[in-house]
Amino acid sequence: MKRKAVFLDRDGVINRDFGYIGSIERFEFLPDVPWALKTLKDLGYATVVVTNQSGIARGMYSEADHLAVMDFMQRELAKSGAALSAHYYCPHHPEAQVAAYRLDCACRKPQPGMLLKAQADLELDLPHSIMVGDHLSDLRAGAAAQVGNLVLVGTHLDEAQDRSKLEPSLHHLTCFADLPSWVRALERGDYVPR
Ligand SMILES: [Mg+2]
Ligand SMILES: [Zn+2]
Repeated sequence: MKRKAVFLDRDGVINRDFGYIGSIERFEFLPDVPWALKTLKDLGYATVVVTNQSGIARGMYSEADHLAVMDFMQRELAKSGAALSAHYYCPHHPEAQVAAYRLDCACRKPQPGMLLKAQADLELDLPHSIMVGDHLSDLRAGAAAQVGNLVLVGTHLDEAQDRSKLEPSLHHLTCFADLPSWVRALERGDYVPR
């Protein structure tokens, strides 16, 4: 049987978005994130981070630096039984300073490449999965991969982008820590607020 997943943007959802987080000194968990990830795991969801890391393409930090941040994050989450199921990142940018990463790729959100790779690797049930992000571009990647539930968290509600294509799957929560109770309501078939 295919497994449901919660796909998570990283910066601004799991950790504070200071912009271009390439070292653990700049990595700070948002409140209650380990608890929320553990609860979603207990509800049967794979937890999969899908993150654009154009800081690599811009030469601000290396892939090794990024992976060191992710290792730190996984070790911290593991202390709460909340380690991620998987993690995908896009190091590319079409105008990258670093030639090796200068690419109009299929993985940089809003393209769905990272989600489709995760589906193939982990045998995921995308229509019953959830994409969580703090920008509409995250949710566009989810919509392009036919993820059934799109959840915007945080304060970027007024982005001047056409959201009509994202309706009616689009929902809004104040923060990621509100997601477990929203998921419980979704699974009970209760009305879930937009
Ligand atoms: Mg973000
Ligand atoms: Zn890419």
